[in-house]
Amino acid sequence: ESKKSGRNCSTLFQDEMATEAAELLKLERDISSAIFKDEFFFVLQPLVSSVTMEVTSAEALIRWQRDDTVVPPNQFIPFLEESALIIDVGEKMLSKVCEFLAQMKSEKRLPNSFKIAVNISGKQLSEVNFIEKVTNVLRKYQIAGHYLEFEITESVALDNLKDTIKKINELKQIGISFSLDDFGTGYSSLSHLKDLPVDKLKIDRSFINDINVDKQDENLVKSIIQLAVNLGIVTVAEGVETVQQVNWLKENGNMLLQGYYFSRPILPNDFIEKYLAPSTEPLE
Ligand code: C2E
Ligand code: MG
Ligand code: MG
Ligand code: MG
Repeated sequence: ESKKSGRNCSTLFQDEMATEAAELLKLERDISSAIFKDEFFFVLQPLVSSVTMEVTSAEALIRWQRDDTVVPPNQFIPFLEESALIIDVGEKMLSKVCEFLAQMKSEKRLPNSFKIAVNISGKQLSEVNFIEKVTNVLRKYQIAGHYLEFEITESVALDNLKDTIKKINELKQIGISFSLDDFGTGYSSLSHLKDLPVDKLKIDRSFINDINVDKQDENLVKSIIQLAVNLGIVTVAEGVETVQQVNWLKENGNMLLQGYYFSRPILPNDFIEKYLAPSTEPLE
């Protein structure tokens, strides 16, 4: 103790930095081996219609089983993005989702109108053979494209707008729909939205948060909903946590709601049990 308190600030700071660097190094090493050990899995969170209150689709969210703990994506996705490992991991995720869709289909728990949305990194989308990879995995699991939705963010889309638009349109031709994630947090939301052929627009949860708290945010959400209506795009409100938010959103439009109020992301098999009882809808 006395020895430690006697040391000067810069030494302490250096120690801390050294520890942090060591932890980062270990994290990076663990992430690479996690890919080989197949320690990534996904959970599903439902999207609910504000009109019928029925579950229409789900978002697949990646998790990492690191020893005894489940690590959330914000703690490893940035590393994957930096190192381009995100391409391998993203591909694997898509394959797992398609495999699960095939399982749902064989169990007769896959309604025709159901979709699973997968988050796609910009690095994946800008790969030259991305479309080929997607087509291959769909073929491998005998899954039609309309069961998939791809969530992209504005920054992804804007990296190479022309190429992105071309790819989105090609993937839409095979039935895959697109949704623009975290809308409102990007820098040039409005100007590029009209160029992007997306089907859905997900209002970032930071705006949903302050419904019933901040009139300005409420007005902003109203304008985004109006914007989507004008463009013929479906609105999704993400991060819906309270009944007050649900009621406000229901009053302000026909949209999809997603958030802890309805369900946290859960394991795929639990999702089936909870939301897709056999014979709720015409099945394929
Ligand atoms: P996102 O795509 O915007 O996903 C929504 C995030 O909000 C998820 O966090 C979800 O668990 C969380 N969330 C849902 N409802 C609520 C709520 O009511 N309140 C609050 N506070 N949070 C809520 P998660 O699972 O930690 O994922 C974080 C981000 O990681 C995602 O944001 C997405 O950008 C990225 N991500 C997740 N899975 C993948 C993946 O497979 N590939 C890629 N490239 N990125 C992924
Ligand atoms: Mg998303
Ligand atoms: Mg989002
Ligand atoms: Mg988000």
